[in-house]
Formats: sequence, structure tokens, C-alpha cells
Amino acid sequence: MKFVSTRGQSPAISFEDVLLSGPAPDGGLYMPESWPTLDFARLSGNKPNYADLAATVVKHFADRDWFDAIDRHSQDVYARFDDPRVAPIRELSPHRWLLELFHGPTLAFKDFALQLLAPLMDEALARRGTRALVVAATSGDTGAAAVAALAGRANIDLVVLHPKGRISDVQRRQMTTATASNVRNVAIEGTFDDAQSLVKQLFADQAFARTHRLAAINSINWVRIAAQAAYYLATSLAFDRRPLTFSVPTGNFGDVFAGYVGKQLGIPIKRLIVATNANDILARAITSGTYARGAVHATLSPAMDIQVASNFERLLYEANGRDAATVRTLMETFAAKGALTIAPSALAAIQSLFIADCVRENETVATMKRVARDLDLLIDPHTAVGLTATRTAAEADDVVTLATAHPAKFPEAVELATGRKPELPERLRPILTAPERYETLPNDIQALKAHIAHQ
Ligand SMILES: *Cc1c(COP(=O)(O)O)cnc(C)c1O
Repeated sequence: MKFVSTRGQSPAISFEDVLLSGPAPDGGLYMPESWPTLDFARLSGNKPNYADLAATVVKHFADRDWFDAIDRHSQDVYARFDDPRVAPIRELSPHRWLLELFHGPTLAFKDFALQLLAPLMDEALARRGTRALVVAATSGDTGAAAVAALAGRANIDLVVLHPKGRISDVQRRQMTTATASNVRNVAIEGTFDDAQSLVKQLFADQAFARTHRLAAINSINWVRIAAQAAYYLATSLAFDRRPLTFSVPTGNFGDVFAGYVGKQLGIPIKRLIVATNANDILARAITSGTYARGAVHATLSPAMDIQVASNFERLLYEANGRDAATVRTLMETFAAKGALTIAPSALAAIQSLFIADCVRENETVATMKRVARDLDLLIDPHTAVGLTATRTAAEADDVVTLATAHPAKFPEAVELATGRKPELPERLRPILTAPERYETLPNDIQALKAHIAHQ
């Protein structure tokens, strides 16, 4: 399988290249040049476990020389999740379920993709006889998942920047208590946007990026998206392929786009609900056709406090009949004006599958409270956004909400809503007392470059 850029001005690349790539050189995102389809008869005949399904999905996008590695790493990483079903499904009420995506090492769904991406990247680097330095900015979950996935890798070093004092203790400790020598944490005296901007500046300095072999693991990496499509498949099979609607708490549009990928692979998906918090750029775009940047609001679901949803470009590419010239014009307009307008035919295509819903803070709190009271169940605020948005589906539709994080990752919000404090799973308790290691740096690119060059 080859991968092409959504903006059409970069050469097509291989699976192995895409494994190690960020955005395409023309500024676009990589997409498979055509959609493969799953062979369901063969799949269900083999009684697959979760790891088999994940490997099957990813292999549909890979070249044959990667099949063994994908199989091997998939079995290895999903066996380490703390539930043998990996992504268990919990019934809440008639026609309503939760898909628990928080049984990985860092209690958020990002483990599903990063746990698999990390060993594949490491192997790609080994095949090429080279190393990479992954630099990532985090508002919490991505950093922890990256540390857990990359710690101890032979060919990858990791530097994670977090905004000093602006992430929860649990989130910080998940990163800073790592003992592997290839992991470094930096607290930036600034906001998440400052940290993100520093990372962008590092990559923009091409000489620096080359010298230090900078690499990214952000949610635009195709292999992350493909790995996430696997839980849509696993869920569909668990329901004997009856058509399902999924409600997906959305920030960067990665997770819900993985659902779209699943649909292209042949999974019967009726609707995808794009559930946003007050940062509603996607809800506005899908409802009105105008994708316009707004101010970022801090909410109880911080992993979704995003205004520009990178992966949305992939949907624009699809909805515009894969016409790269149209995408290029749209994205240039967006860069210049902070807004773009989706053509009516493309919007109709989007609306035939996606429903969007913007959930307010008081509604998120009310949902957490109701679920705690009626079902004796604590859910995290991101999951609560998704569950609230199921109100957009018909009562008789079968709706699965993606539970993207464990409630113990967001204890303050859960306690505020329910009066109950979620317990950290046993296996994570050591981080509460383990020694932390991190440097503090000013919000200054020269200081960061010096810090990286110094190692
Ligand atoms: C990252 C994250 C999201 C948003 O996922 P996207 O792929 O960016 O849309 C939702 N919930 C949690 C808990 C997350 O960590």
C-alpha cells in the first residue's frame, strides 16, 4: 500500500515511511491511496482475539515485509492490557453501551495506538540502521502514553514537554517517574500552547531537525489511526455486525476518524457522533459547513481543549472526492483567514455519516452525577461528554460510547461532579511516591535547543 498526501504535492510513500512520518512535506496528511476491505467470512472463521484483529487491520495498510512484525508486536502489547478482553463493552441501559478504552498502561485510549506504534517505529529505525529523537508537547494523556510506549526502546529517545503546574499530579507523575534513560521530561514555564509552539519551532529549524533526527508521534500518524480502527472492528464483531452508532469524545478528530476508516473497511457503522466540549469548532463545522477557529476554553475535559483539529483535513479530502487541489485551497484559506467553508455537496457527504454535538460543562457534570447515582459507576469527564451526546441518536439505535479515559485520571473533576473520589488502579499506585525527574525550562526556544543538544 502506498500513501498519498491530502494536498497532492508530495510523492507517494510506503508503509515504512509513513510509520516514521509526521505531516507530508507539502503540509498535507498521508492517506492510503485506496481503501482496502476486510474479509469478514475469513475473520470470524478464525475466532480472533483483540490482538489478531488489530494486526489484521494494520496489515491491510502495510507491505508484506511488515506482516510478521505487526503480528508479533500486536500480540505482545495487547497482552499487557489489564483486561484480557482489552476493550471490554459494558451495558448501561437498553441500546446504550460503553466501550472501555482505558485498560492500557496509562489508563487512556491513546495506549491502543502508541503501544503498537512504538515497537514498529523502533523496528523501522533498526532496519534503517538509524535513530530518532521524538519530541512531543503534552497537555497530559499523550505524554504519559508516549513515555510508557517508548521507555527503554533501543533506537528512540524521547523528550516530553509539559506546561509547568498545568497538568494533574497523576498525569505528571506518570511521565516523570519513568526511570528509562532514553526518556527526558521538561516542564515549560508557560501554557500547553507555548509548549506546542516550541515543538513546532524545533521542527521548523530544518538544520536542527536533521542533526538531531527529530521525529513525531502525534495523532496524525497514519499507523495510530489504523490501530484505533481495530476497536471499532472488535466492537462490531461482538455485536454480530449489527449496525452501530458510536459516540466519540473528540479533540483532534483522530479517534472518530478511525471510525470512518473502519466504515471504509466494511464495518457496518450507522452514525458517528462527534462529541465536543465547549471547544466546538468541529460541531460548528459539521452543522453549518463553516470551519472557523475560535478561542480555546479550559474545560473539565482538557484532552479535548483544542480548536484546530488536524485530522479533519483527512475528512475534507474524502468528502471532496479526494481532490487534493480543493483541499489545498481550503487549507490555504484556513491558514490565511482562520476559517474555511465546506462546499454543499461535501457537507452533505459528511452529514450523511457524522452528527456533531457540543456538550456544555454543566451537562458533562450532570451526566457524571447521573451515572454515579443510577448505575453506581464513575466515568471520566471526556467519556461523559460522549455519553451526553448520545442524545442526538434515536432511542432505538444501538449506541456505543467510547470511554476514552479511566476516571482516576481526572479525580478532581469526578469528585466535583459525584462527591466520590475514583481510586487509582493498584498497578499505578507506585507512581504516587516514586521519585520524579524533570528539568524546568523557560518558554524559550534557545534554552530548549541547548537542553536537547547538551545530551
Ligand atoms: C486525546 C483524548 C481525546 C480526544 O481524542 P482525539 O483523537 O484527539 O479526537 C478524548 N479523550 C481523551 C481522554 C483523550 O486523551
